[in-house]
Amino acid sequence: MTLRPMNIDPAFCFIGGAWVAPQSGQSLPLINPSDGTQLCEIARGQGDDIHAAVAAAEAALAGDWGKATAAERGRILAAIGRAVLTHVDHLAELEAMDVGKPLKQARADVLALARYLEFYGGAADKLHGETIPYLDGYTVYTLREPHGVTGHIIPWNYPMQIIGRSIGAALAMGNACVLKPAEEACLTALAFAQIAHDAGLPAGALNVVPGLGAEAGAALTAHSGVHHISFTGSVGVGRLIQQTAATHIVPVTLELGGKSPQVVFEDADLDAALPFLVNAGIQNAGQTCSASSRILVHHKVYDEVVEKMASRYSALRAGPAMADLDVGPLVSDRQRDIVQGFLDQGKDLTMAAQGKVVDEAPAGGAYCAPTLFTDVAPEHCLAQDEIFGPVQVVIPFDDEAQAIEIANGTDFGLVASIWSRDGARQMRMAKALRAGQVFVNNYGAGGGVELPFGGTGLSGHGREKGFEALYGFSMLKTVAAYHG
Ligand code: ADP
Repeated sequence: MTLRPMNIDPAFCFIGGAWVAPQSGQSLPLINPSDGTQLCEIARGQGDDIHAAVAAAEAALAGDWGKATAAERGRILAAIGRAVLTHVDHLAELEAMDVGKPLKQARADVLALARYLEFYGGAADKLHGETIPYLDGYTVYTLREPHGVTGHIIPWNYPMQIIGRSIGAALAMGNACVLKPAEEACLTALAFAQIAHDAGLPAGALNVVPGLGAEAGAALTAHSGVHHISFTGSVGVGRLIQQTAATHIVPVTLELGGKSPQVVFEDADLDAALPFLVNAGIQNAGQTCSASSRILVHHKVYDEVVEKMASRYSALRAGPAMADLDVGPLVSDRQRDIVQGFLDQGKDLTMAAQGKVVDEAPAGGAYCAPTLFTDVAPEHCLAQDEIFGPVQVVIPFDDEAQAIEIANGTDFGLVASIWSRDGARQMRMAKALRAGQVFVNNYGAGGGVELPFGGTGLSGHGREKGFEALYGFSMLKTVAAYHG
């Protein structure tokens, strides 16, 4: 398969501004989750390729990229963002085929990628050091410097958005990046590398090595030339990455998903809430770290909310990415089996409604009908574990205190939202909820380029997105000069 119009062979790595065959000569099949067929072969990058990519990044830091001023870096990022916008259709098609997401969602992801580059292009020269009053005879100031080579291990659910937030911020601060995309979906990462290069990013500033997590991913984490790792993915792999990074005392940013609640009070504007309640659970077939998989509803409006959500669920349709329905397939058979396992565990629960997989959906696709469970006990595994599929649970509560207890009653803490017209309650709840982001009368699953994002507990640590990410992707140096 040729990734027109960039004419890229996906069985290669992108290292030092050129397409390079993996040193093992091996490849991996890339499967189209909409029908189960093989899309193409991708490179099976391993330790040698990671080593070459780190060397290319080091060369970039010693060369043009390392010498670029903050303003020049910003201009290059902005140019890459504009170049992305000239390839919207192509990138959206690649992402839809590869991930299985409906085309309109993939288009939104391309626009988000461009917006991240615009944002970080503008931010690159806005982060300043400080002067610090100190002892007589001293002038003290701080410098924000790049870490050096940064490693980026990303998942398959939102490749373009995560490239935007992670690579965008790292490049803005002057780091040189090695990106290991997920083996299930890496086409837009490869296409992006060529677009960025053509738009003026110096060779070696961004290198992409596809491959398996246990091979390329583990080699990147363990490489002594990597000075910062950002990882988005599962809790188990996040734990491994933090342990491995500890060997070289390398800082890590971990974004590991959640079990994010929306809390609906009796005074909420239910008509305004309804689209958010459902969409935040089914967007990208629920395969979103910040998906809202728990809906907590005050008992006075419980029946009404359940009825409205159930009616919406009954109308949901799942089908091939290119059919652009409400929900696409899950990314793989493996993911579908995991979600099916959760559905099996929910056999004794009340299923309020289920959407349909359309008849035209190919038998080989990894489809799962969107499913809504009600009256779920907060301690049930469907209300505790991250499912990563189009499954939501509705849980009743009696008062604010109970809502807080249930909302905070999982090991995660990524996003939460409050639906209420009472301003004082909004403020109280926003403080009480254990989450890195709290929305009031809205819910921004995956959105908000400008908004610092990240979690607590098993959701991880560190912040991406917004200006805040620039602190994580840089090192603060204090200069204390004695001049008498
Ligand atoms: P999921 O289970 O949703 O696929 P993972 O956490 O397994 O999420 O994968 C997210 C990313 O982490 C992917 O790019 C994957 O290749 C990578 N990965 C998986 N295992 C490892 C590992 N041992 N070391 C480093 N990266 C890994």
